[in-house]
Amino acid sequence: MQYNEGTRLDPSQVEYRTGGGGGGGGRRVAVGGVSGIIVLVLALLFGINPAELMGGGGATGSVSEPGTDLTQCQTGADVEKDRNCRFVVYTNTANQYWSGLFTNGYKPATTVLFSGQTVSGCGTATTDVGPFYCPNDGKLYLDPAFTKDMLQGQLGGLGGDAAEAYVVGHEFGHHIQNLTGRLAQVQQAGQTTGANSPQVKLELQADCYAGAYLANVTSQPNAAMVLNQDDLNRMVDAAKVVGDDYIQQRTQGGVNSDAWTHGSSAERKHWLAQGFNNGVQVCEQVFSAAG
Ligand SMILES: [Zn+2]
Repeated sequence: MQYNEGTRLDPSQVEYRTGGGGGGGGRRVAVGGVSGIIVLVLALLFGINPAELMGGGGATGSVSEPGTDLTQCQTGADVEKDRNCRFVVYTNTANQYWSGLFTNGYKPATTVLFSGQTVSGCGTATTDVGPFYCPNDGKLYLDPAFTKDMLQGQLGGLGGDAAEAYVVGHEFGHHIQNLTGRLAQVQQAGQTTGANSPQVKLELQADCYAGAYLANVTSQPNAAMVLNQDDLNRMVDAAKVVGDDYIQQRTQGGVNSDAWTHGSSAERKHWLAQGFNNGVQVCEQVFSAAG
């Protein structure tokens, strides 16, 4: 990914809760007894509200320090000096893109970078649930180190900045669904798994939104970030390795489409490409498309 060094950034859209001076022993809170890998498979990728999966007592851990900022991220050139600034670029461009499409008021989303675990409007979240969006506070939560390791290590993908930008773009897709009411509508529908479930269509639409966003913001004059062929390959690869069939095969050695929550690799790649090639107007078709 190539960043435009002259682009002005707005670091106020990203909260930084990692590191933070070690936490002085750290506040301890209970999280769920669900084992990491099961939560990972359920919430992956990129769940909404994974904290709902974490009821009950169980393991404890320290909570990330709340609320420092990334004021050092002022321009695109700063991404090279502090790699965390790339999340400011993704967040700024996503908010810019979507605010231009909402004629009657857009609420910017905030990205929260954390490590270990953190408190969200959807409860306490641990890093191993993967990146997620919390509709209650309109923030997306992401552990940069875990996300990198998940895409490349655990899931065996190519990783890289373009893969991460897709992840952020997908979470912003849920933010948009929250604003349009689609999210609430699907959650009320109740049926949460299965290849043809509204839940899967919700996720595929978020992939489509990610594609529309990435194509648009990277093709503007003086774009804050520009994609080359390698980046495109990494985006598509990321969509592949977060497919339900791919993850099931990798973690369980078999595929059961009744348990799908996010769609197959082929579907995720398809809808990412649909949004990328044809723009946001095609993304509603997810809900009318068969299968
Ligand atoms: Zn999602």
